[in-house]
Amino acid sequence: MRYLAPTSVGEAITMLTEQGGRVFAGATDVIPQMRAGRDLGEVMVDLKKIGRLTNVEVRGDTWIIGAATPTSALTSNPDFVADFPGLAHGAGLIGSDQVQSRSSLGGNLCNASPGADSVPAMVVNQARAVVAGPGGGRTISVAEVPTGPGQTSLGDGEFVVEFEIDRPAAGTSDAYQRVTPRTEMDIAIVGAGSRISLDSDGVCTSATIALGAVAPTVVRVPGAEAVLVGAKLVGDDVDQAALDAAAAAASAACNPIDDMRGTIAYRTHVAGVLVERTVIEAARRASER
Ligand SMILES: Cc1cc2nc3c(=O)[nH]c(=O)nc-3n(C[C@H](O)[C@H](O)[C@H](O)COP(=O)(O)OP(=O)(O)OC[C@H]3O[C@@H](n4cnc5c(N)ncnc54)[C@H](O)[C@@H]3O)c2cc1C
Repeated sequence: MRYLAPTSVGEAITMLTEQGGRVFAGATDVIPQMRAGRDLGEVMVDLKKIGRLTNVEVRGDTWIIGAATPTSALTSNPDFVADFPGLAHGAGLIGSDQVQSRSSLGGNLCNASPGADSVPAMVVNQARAVVAGPGGGRTISVAEVPTGPGQTSLGDGEFVVEFEIDRPAAGTSDAYQRVTPRTEMDIAIVGAGSRISLDSDGVCTSATIALGAVAPTVVRVPGAEAVLVGAKLVGDDVDQAALDAAAAAASAACNPIDDMRGTIAYRTHVAGVLVERTVIEAARRASER
């Protein structure tokens, strides 16, 4: 195996073009895969030595997050947590403190596990991936990157440089919750992300809902989003009928696998429960923002 450590995006593209190889960031997915015997090729290209890949800043009203940034740098950033409490929670569920000192949003997305914990929350926050490669740069929505378990839409030599996530406006916030068989160090049976915008009366003006681990890729739930708009989501007279309808739409949107960690029936039911819980949590946060 050859280890390459470019220090610029351009150098990484040249190395990948001339020598091929696989990029990695924290290697918290890559190393277990190697140990399990998966053939990942002979050339490994470390993205963490490229300054832009671990840079985090707010530019105008947009967070720019280097794709190889350790997730611990995000979950320990109070401004990031205040803007995206749901995404920070999802990123903070990855593995352990040790894993999170290495794990990245780019790796979580591009490993393309259906159960990746940061992805539903990135999707509801309409995160964009800035992609570099031999054909030039392009910016695509995060939802377009995974195409199936372990598969992405990235071409040969392409990698994610950074994420762009617009800061939420006043009255808007997010939430992410998951269910796992064990309380720690386990993979989601179902994950749900919600982002809710409220007017000053606590009535929902916009909703974005995404589910993880219930289909080959993250599933948006437009049926749930539609029934929530116009519903009162905070205060004494919360619109329970709208929440029930959103939960039913979420369950209907599932296409999960049946395995020893969760049956189809259980995952389908839990998807509805988690959508209701995350909508309530996101709405409460939105009302305080
Ligand atoms: C003990 C343990 C517990 C875990 N628990 C969880 C959990 O609870 N939830 C969860 O979601 N995950 C979990 N994971 C999985 C893993 O930690 C995460 O998916 C992590 O975010 C991967 O990031 P990384 O930087 O380490 O990725 P890497 O291992 O470096 O890369 C993963 C994949 O993404 C590709 N890649 C990496 N960066 C880029 C990029 N910038 N552009 C294009 N492709 C790229 C690599 O080629 C590789 O295919 C766990 C892992 C371990 C070891």
